[in-house]
Amino acid sequence: MNPQPAPTELPAKLTLKAVSRIFGEVTALAPTDLSVEAGEFISVVGPSGCGKSTMFNIIAGVLAPSNGKVLIDGKDVTNSSGHVGYMLQKDLLLPWRTVLDNIVLGAILTGGASRAEREEGVALARRYGLGDFINHYPAALSGGMRQRVALMRTLAMHHDVMLLDEPFGALDSQTRLAMQQWLLSVWEKEKRTIVFVTHDIDEAVFLADRVVVMTPRPGRIHEIIDVPIKRPRPVSSLTDPEFVRLKQRILATIYQDPRAANDEAAHDE
Ligand code: ADP
Ligand code: MG
Repeated sequence: MNPQPAPTELPAKLTLKAVSRIFGEVTALAPTDLSVEAGEFISVVGPSGCGKSTMFNIIAGVLAPSNGKVLIDGKDVTNSSGHVGYMLQKDLLLPWRTVLDNIVLGAILTGGASRAEREEGVALARRYGLGDFINHYPAALSGGMRQRVALMRTLAMHHDVMLLDEPFGALDSQTRLAMQQWLLSVWEKEKRTIVFVTHDIDEAVFLADRVVVMTPRPGRIHEIIDVPIKRPRPVSSLTDPEFVRLKQRILATIYQDPRAANDEAAHDE
């Protein structure tokens, strides 16, 4: 059972209010509302071009919305950066910097990493399985390890909200599964709020408390689906009947297959 949080007077951790973005003729994001509670893990899924990265860029304050507001803890942060940790779709490590330097890069770029910040970087690397690699260069690491370094860099920036844009997209499926489990263990320890973009529906459902399903032309949130699968989630969750049912529902939404949608409606009570 995954009861809904009790209604509260506290503002949500992250709120989008009618946020939209138009590029010339293209409505990259139609007016969008979203509310994310502290500590939630939200997946955002949808085909290429449905506005996922546009939404993230607006939340991160690096792209101006055409309209609407972004709030964090109820505070208006529209058009202002530095309030969230953001791991870009192409979050490249600096090849000429060590693993440790890459982890503390945020501090290096804003005036230099203090001894305490470097020690914290070492502690992060140890806690999450890269302790033996802090003095290596990225070229010596596997793809999964490089993504872990990029994620630790985002963690080291100490924001409650982390936006992760398809962080595992380039990994093979087995490494990807290992990384998903690793990410869940990090999330459980760090108690951050995570919004995670992926076009992989298994990944979206496996990780999330709720899945935001987006559709293109115009890019918008079509549906938000609760994932009432208990945690911790073993790999066997992937074949749980509830998991399969949620996956079918998301596929039907994305591909707008009328038969699939009707089948789904027939199963809904
Ligand atoms: P996703 O991340 O879901 O693949 P994007 O948010 O990158 O989608 O893009 C959504 C739509 O907006 C696409 O049609 C894309 O071509 C368009 N778009 C994104 N960024 C720009 C830009 N800087 N200038 C013009 N069009 C853009
Ligand atoms: Mg994208």
